[in-house]
Amino acid sequence: MPFDLEQPGGLPSYRSSLLAAFPEVVHGFFTRLGGVSPGPYRSLNLSFGVGDQGPLVVRNRELVRQALGLTGLASATQVHGCRESLVTAANAAPDGEIPDADILITRQPGLGLLIKQADCQAVMLYDPVRRVAANVHCGWRGQVANILGEAVTRLRERFGCRPEDLVAALGPSLGPCCAEFRHYRREFPAELWPYQVRPDYFDLWSLSRDQLLAAGLKSHCIDIAGICTRCREDEFFSYRRDRITGRQGAVIGIRD
Ligand SMILES: [Zn+2]
Repeated sequence: MPFDLEQPGGLPSYRSSLLAAFPEVVHGFFTRLGGVSPGPYRSLNLSFGVGDQGPLVVRNRELVRQALGLTGLASATQVHGCRESLVTAANAAPDGEIPDADILITRQPGLGLLIKQADCQAVMLYDPVRRVAANVHCGWRGQVANILGEAVTRLRERFGCRPEDLVAALGPSLGPCCAEFRHYRREFPAELWPYQVRPDYFDLWSLSRDQLLAAGLKSHCIDIAGICTRCREDEFFSYRRDRITGRQGAVIGIRD
């Protein structure tokens, strides 16, 4: 389904209509627009780790928190691993980061799970039966490690979530138009090579869809924005395009 562009609190963000169907869920895939950072971080940079000024990042995060009407935002230093963090009021801080996690999970109403990205995928998961939300930082290394399958397993083990109940939304990220991997024979195992759509270019969106299906999700419960961050310079940060740049945010939470 197409994602809708909305402007909560004056900040543009894309919303998945699948997730928007649950009134208890608040979520948004933000763009680079509407923040206060200058230069290559213009303007809604949400990462402390890219050279931007810390107080401006805090201000940008506050804008996002307010736009979604959340009481707090939690984010982690993302390391392209598969470690998860269970987010509670205790470890969500506007100016701090949970150490080394690429899967954030919460059942705590009012807390937003923030994934920062500039070409990598943010994949939101929600279980409407057990009211558990997760947000996954999914770059190509995460895909090689099947981080989406790992996230579904953690949800099952920790909360008894059934994969067939889960809804997934994959936001703006590197599209098949721009996902060039010249060293793919070294970087990808052979079972990922069929995702090559033309020489050296890969469809990482389809790969994520297939990994979610393999984890047990239903195809009609997977929503993909189909928007490429590298192609849309005015709208999104792209590491591949600009190298020195900011990170946009994707946030999901359960309404207070
Ligand atoms: Zn593209």
